[in-house]
Amino acid sequence: MQDSKCSTCDLEQKGECSDNTQCVLEKLPENDNSRIKNVIAVMSGKGGVGKSSVTSLLACGFNQKGYKVGVLDADITGPSVPKMFGLRGMAESNGVAVFPSMSSTGVKVMSLNLLMPNEDDFVIWRGPVISGAVKQFWTDVAWGCLDYLFVDLPPGTGDVPLTVMQSLPLGGIIVVSSPQDLAAMIVKKAIKMALHMNVPILGLIENMTGAVCPHCGREFPLFGTGKGKEMCEKFGIPFLGSMPLDPQLSTLSDQGRIEQYQSDLFMERIPWILTRQQF
Ligand code: ADP
Repeated sequence: MQDSKCSTCDLEQKGECSDNTQCVLEKLPENDNSRIKNVIAVMSGKGGVGKSSVTSLLACGFNQKGYKVGVLDADITGPSVPKMFGLRGMAESNGVAVFPSMSSTGVKVMSLNLLMPNEDDFVIWRGPVISGAVKQFWTDVAWGCLDYLFVDLPPGTGDVPLTVMQSLPLGGIIVVSSPQDLAAMIVKKAIKMALHMNVPILGLIENMTGAVCPHCGREFPLFGTGKGKEMCEKFGIPFLGSMPLDPQLSTLSDQGRIEQYQSDLFMERIPWILTRQQF
């Protein structure tokens, strides 16, 4: 077996990666302060389709079902999870480990915004530094015992999704799409990346399928129907459900009260489906 360089990760591989389709890098070890049973990443490829909202709602749903849940906000330069949960201020540290902040219902969150004095402070970091921060959210954060850790990936198929897929013991990814062709085209890239990296796709959630009228509460379609299901059929992945544009969701998110959003899809159906999947 010859050592080779993997075109995907640019690191030396020991033979097993001869076709460059499957990296065999060591997964990062858990630290002494974390026992995490299932790690699920949420990916969309395209920004603005509701990936962070879906990640947060998944966490709320599993938390409400009695599971111990955390959210690792890997969207380092566009972190929105703390705001959705109403978390402000700096996360605590004992000098060795950093402790995730806890939402009002008990969801643990770690995000770069919880390590910055002000929520609108920014970082100008290149890809490897950003990836390093994501790795530290795994190695240096005292997550405690978790049943599920949801990882909110940034848009695109770049450094961070690659790092997460290679370095964390992912059980699988959930893909978020929206019905516009433009979004679907980019989301397909994310699906293909996951397939290329041999990461199981647990399912697809289609967001913004229609709109909920703020006056009568009824839902009407906006961009046509069935596109999410078509994509699932094309790639052979489970369709987990769809969510309309709902002013209530964006209002609660803006107010840091996403945990109060009522959704049968996230509180019942998706936890039911995913807890029965073997991954
Ligand atoms: P992404 O993580 O894909 O960039 P976000 O989850 O941050 O997207 O959502 C972008 C914005 O759209 C947020 O203000 C969020 O509250 C809003 N949003 C997302 N999905 C919905 C929805 N189904 N109904 C209403 N607003 C939504």
